[in-house]
Amino acid sequence: MLAYTPTPVQELHDPLFEQSGVRVLIKREDLNHPYASGNKWWKLKYNLEEALLQKQKTLLTFGGAYSNHIYATAAAAKELGFQSIGIIRGEETLPLNATLHFAAECGMKLHYITRDSYRHKHEEQFINELYNQFGDFYRIPEGGTDELAVRGVEEFAQSLGDDFDYLCCAVGTGGTLAGLINGLPDRIQIFGFPVLKGVDYLADEIRKYVYPDKNNWRLVTGYHFGGYAKTTNELLSFIKQVEQLHALPLDFVYTAKVVYGVYQMVRNGDFRMNSKILILHTGGLQGRGA
Ligand SMILES: *Cc1c(COP(=O)(O)O)cnc(C)c1O
Repeated sequence: MLAYTPTPVQELHDPLFEQSGVRVLIKREDLNHPYASGNKWWKLKYNLEEALLQKQKTLLTFGGAYSNHIYATAAAAKELGFQSIGIIRGEETLPLNATLHFAAECGMKLHYITRDSYRHKHEEQFINELYNQFGDFYRIPEGGTDELAVRGVEEFAQSLGDDFDYLCCAVGTGGTLAGLINGLPDRIQIFGFPVLKGVDYLADEIRKYVYPDKNNWRLVTGYHFGGYAKTTNELLSFIKQVEQLHALPLDFVYTAKVVYGVYQMVRNGDFRMNSKILILHTGGLQGRGA
């Protein structure tokens, strides 16, 4: 399996938190692997095991040009000796950005398709064409979210124990949040912070993966900062401030949005007095170099 480094929990000390009677900690899962890091490690775990079990030689997956999932899959494939193919949305632009450059260096074959064809990526006919073109492969869906990914995150969630009252996490496809919901005890409140705008579909998508009796979670939709990979000067200066004050690196696509959201929610009094809030650092720091 992929190498794994145990990760620390870091407490964020801030007068605001003291005055508000809460403790805020962050699980530094960004440090679990140098390349296939954060939530992507856990999402890949059982898909990689399954591909090994099936004696597959090639992993194929999908993503945008800045995708953390593409980056992590390329690194994982290299480490475990798989060939890899990345189906990339949009046209090739040269020189490659840092994400795709890294993926190519790992040996990933990059195959570009139009935004239009990309919409058909889940359809049988489209997938059959990929088999015709590339031969046999093990397919991992876009963003890496499927039942096996959710199971990996569930296992991670169980390793967190229950010495906290809230768990806060950035949400893209929702696969990670679903695993957290499944793996954490019911008394812990789980807040997912979508980084995309217009996510009416998302709660239903998450429910597809979540055990039916679970309702200790909700989506906090006010902190997307304009949408996926969108940012503002305020968010960028927040990142700088947090890095200086807490030696905590954040990326603007995912993790900065949830940490910013937690600060605001503390200011709004949205957490109980004397409670302990655990933020999950899901990684994504590779995106800062792109
Ligand atoms: C992919 C990613 C997420 C979102 O995970 P989903 O399972 O798609 O919701 C969150 N944070 C980081 C850093 C990511 O790379």
